[in-house]
Amino acid sequence: MANHYPHIFDLKNKVVVPCPPIIVRPIPGVHPLGTRTIVGCYGTWIEVPPSFDYEHIPHVFTIRQPWATMRQVEPLVMTVAGSKGQTYTVRRSESGQTTCTCVGFKYRQDCKHAQTVAKL
Ligand SMILES: [Zn+2]
Repeated sequence: MANHYPHIFDLKNKVVVPCPPIIVRPIPGVHPLGTRTIVGCYGTWIEVPPSFDYEHIPHVFTIRQPWATMRQVEPLVMTVAGSKGQTYTVRRSESGQTTCTCVGFKYRQDCKHAQTVAKL
């Protein structure tokens, strides 16, 4: 079973995890004899030698937060013309959320003005 895990010092690429890894060591008297030391987080765990310590983590893991790759857009405030000559103000936030001052948006939280600005 020990060979099932990649040996950490043979890793060509670092293991990508979404959060800072923790080391889980067997506790004498709690875990059965032969329980191995593992390190990882959130569903990704690798077996490591008992001498593995937190200072070794940067050599083995890359922490990549999923939300770090989320699309960021330029915030915008635009005045758009309605079909009957009225004007509406459409705002787009950094996260891409759009709002509009028209009646349709007030009731449906969506409108063609907001959709148009969202695609810019
Ligand atoms: Zn609108």
